[in-house]
Order: sequence, then structure tokens, then C-alpha cells
Amino acid sequence: MIGSFKTDRSSTEAGQNRIAPTSGSSAKRSRFVDAHRHADTAVFSDSFGKAELRQGLTTVINGNCGLSAAPVFGPHKADVAAYLFPITGELSDLPVESLAAYSAALSARSLPIHAGMLIGLGTVRAAVAGFEKDLTDGDYRAIRALLERTLSEGALGVSLGLGYAPECFFDTAGLVRALEPIRHTNITLSVHMRSESMNLLPSIDEALALANALHVPLQISHLKAVGRERWGTLVYDALEKIRRAREDGLDVQCDAYPYTAGSTQLLHVLPPEFLAGGTEAIARRLIDPTAQRILKERFETGTDYDNYAMLLGWENIEISSVRCGEDKPLVGKTVAEAAGDAEPWRFCAGLLSRNRCAVTMIDRLTSEDDIAAIYREPFSYVISDATYPKDGIPHPRVYGTFVHILERFVRERKTLSLPAAIRKMTRMPADRYGLNGKGRIAVGADADLLVFDPDRIRDRATFADPARCGEGMETVLVNGVPAVENGVCTGIGNGTVLKRRNP
Ligand SMILES: [Zn+2]
Repeated sequence: MIGSFKTDRSSTEAGQNRIAPTSGSSAKRSRFVDAHRHADTAVFSDSFGKAELRQGLTTVINGNCGLSAAPVFGPHKADVAAYLFPITGELSDLPVESLAAYSAALSARSLPIHAGMLIGLGTVRAAVAGFEKDLTDGDYRAIRALLERTLSEGALGVSLGLGYAPECFFDTAGLVRALEPIRHTNITLSVHMRSESMNLLPSIDEALALANALHVPLQISHLKAVGRERWGTLVYDALEKIRRAREDGLDVQCDAYPYTAGSTQLLHVLPPEFLAGGTEAIARRLIDPTAQRILKERFETGTDYDNYAMLLGWENIEISSVRCGEDKPLVGKTVAEAAGDAEPWRFCAGLLSRNRCAVTMIDRLTSEDDIAAIYREPFSYVISDATYPKDGIPHPRVYGTFVHILERFVRERKTLSLPAAIRKMTRMPADRYGLNGKGRIAVGADADLLVFDPDRIRDRATFADPARCGEGMETVLVNGVPAVENGVCTGIGNGTVLKRRNP
């Protein structure tokens, strides 16, 4: 667990994180836990761990937003891998045909920190039925069977990405049907909602309806209200909905990342009907003159989906990675800048098409006051939503999220007390996914410990210079072994692959 010791050692963690002087079995858990990361393939990289340990992370959970790197197999494998690439990274050399194979390969490596996986319903649906809009009864049976199998292989929970294809093609009833294997379990359903702006409140209603129908714990992922016009109001209405649902007895929480910009596939700007058929079909559609006429109008007037072109403007959407060498000079520019004299929407369509959709963006979408309002709620915790683009520009959250919280939201803004912040980065996410032994300091708990002076923690990662590790994590222990000493990574790999214990 975390130990945030001041130099006089007078301030320990607060709240639930105090060291329990009990004997034996009271489980404890670890230090900073990031329950929403996209390091699905990054965990296999030799460089993995440094950015995480230097901000105090000892546990990460991948497979979020419906986009898990496993299980990917069968006739749609290449399509699924191409689609996942901008978020999860390259699957081609990894054993991703099942979570069991993935976990076995990861266990064989020297892992710097602990890593677990959610099963993404988007990946499951795409593996079974590709990117088509409609499912047959047989498809539903196959989806349920694959969910069951993957859960039995140790997935910590199930994630949805309802803003992404092919999950955006599910209606609520279809989701309930597909998710039958988790009905009446304590398996957490983590939901990236259908809308985070125009239809945020109906999207929360849908997530709550899912949890009510299935009787499962609900985690609302990266809550935010996208678009300047909605800042300061909409997120409060969203929080009120969650509060009321909790009062009604539903086990619902939410999480948020501490930055006003997000990062995801540039594809996310498209209306959902443009996302059918997989990346090759999308790439062809985007340069078809008839489809382009429709696309232009959808960008200009569409209000039935999160229309980033309208909500944010092309000047707030920055290109952060591309696949084509010829487009690399565009990285770091906004779509508006990169388009030059061309119409930005047409430029965006062309860019996506020639890169076979493998383009990521950093999009400026929310306000820090909204983020603070979310963090003030006792039912919210901290996540990063970090992705690992192979080249291009990473989002600073990859390097800075957990020290950013301590520096910005505890020390500077005073949004959170230190104990409250620690709880939101340790025990709450650990408990959400049943990580017994992580998230608190206690006898019998895993000896994942941090020692730092909260006054000296510094986040050095910025949007202009994102790949900079945090400062101030003096000592990090992973299962009792020093992974960071005197602020320097030791290179010792003592992490484990986390699996859900099946009842
Ligand atoms: Zn997401």
C-alpha cells in the first residue's frame, strides 16, 4: 500500500489506508492502482514499467473500453487487430487467441508491476461477428460462450465501449442478452458510455438500466461532459443521477482522468453509421463521393452522436499518431492546421482513409472544474485511460496521472485531501475488481508500498513534452522487492499477472 510518509513520518495515509495492527488474515492491498489503462500490448515491451513506477503505480488493469487485446482469433482476426491497433498496440506477434494464452505469455516475462485484464465486449463481438451491424441468434450464443470462457480464464471484469464499433450497434436489450453470463454475479461491468456530451444523461440511464437488469456492480468510465457549452452544468446532473441510483441501492461508481484533454482513435469523430464493416470498409467509404456528401452534412448538423467536429471544433483536435510515413509531419498539428487551405472535414476523411483508420488524436474536451467536481464525490476514483502509441505523441497521462493528482488536485487546487486522494488511487480501484491484498496497508496484504514526501511530488509530463517521468517517488516496493530506490528504477521485475478467482 501506499505509504505517503512526510519526512517527520508524522503523516501516514489516512482513512482506510492506515496500517492495521491486526494479525493474520485481514487482507490488504497495494499502492497506486490504475484500473483503466490500455497497456494490453505495452506490458510486453522491455521498456514497460518505468513511466508507471515513477508515478507510484504498482498495479494496472487493461482491456478497458470494450477493447481488450484478447481474445482475438478466427476469420475476423486481421480486421479486429487493425481496429484495436491505435488503442492497444500491435497484436501480431502476441498470443492473443485467448486470455489464458495471453496471461501465460505475460507470466513468463519479468513483469515490473502487476497487471490484470478486463474482457472487452467489443473485442468479443468483433471476434465472433466482425463489424457488421446485426447479430444472429448464433452470434449471441457464441458471444456468451466466449465471455464465459474468458471470465473462467481470469478476466477481472467486463468492459464496454459503446462509443466504438461494433458495440455501438448493440441496443440496450442486445447488451443485456449478450451479457447474460455475468447476471447476478459480483463481476464489475465497466462502461464507456454511448455519449459523453449531447446524450450523456440518457447514456447514464442506459448504463444504470444495464446494471439493474443484470444485477452487477457498475463502473462508469472516464466520466466527463464534452464540449464547452456543457461545462459547469451537465456533469453535475450526471453526478446527481449516480447519487440517486446509489441511494436506491445500486452499486455504481465512476472514475475520471485528471486532464482536460482525452486521447483516442481519430475515428471517434465519425458518426456511428460510418463505422460499420471494419477498417478497410471505413477507409473506402470515407473517399466515396456520395458518402462524403452525407459525412459533410453529418459533421455540420449531427446531434444524435458525439459530434466532436461541432462540439470541439477541428482546432481542438490534435493529430497524435499516424501510420503512413508521408503523414508523420502532421503529428502535433490540429486537424484545422494540418488541413491548410482544404476543408478540415474532407482532410480528416482523407487522412483516416489513407492511414487505414490508424490515426490517434488528443482532443481538448472538458474543464478542470468539472473534473474536480467529479473527484469531490465519494463514489469516484482516479484512472489514467493511458494508451501507448508506438510513435507520435503520447498523452502526458501515461507518465503523470498519479503524481498529477498529488501535485495539482491535492497540493495546488486542494480539491482533495491527501487521504481522500490516496483512497481514490488505491483501495477504491482495488476493491472494485476484487484485488484482495491490494490497495491498503495491512498484515497479510501484498507488500506493494510507496514512500514519498507529498510536498515534493512533481509531475513533469506536459502536453508539449509528455514523455517525462514523475519526480518524488523515493521508494516503490512490488511484492516486497524494491522496484524504485532513491527515485531510480532498479529493473527488478517482481510483478504478477492478476486473475479473478472464480468462485
Ligand atoms: Zn473509454
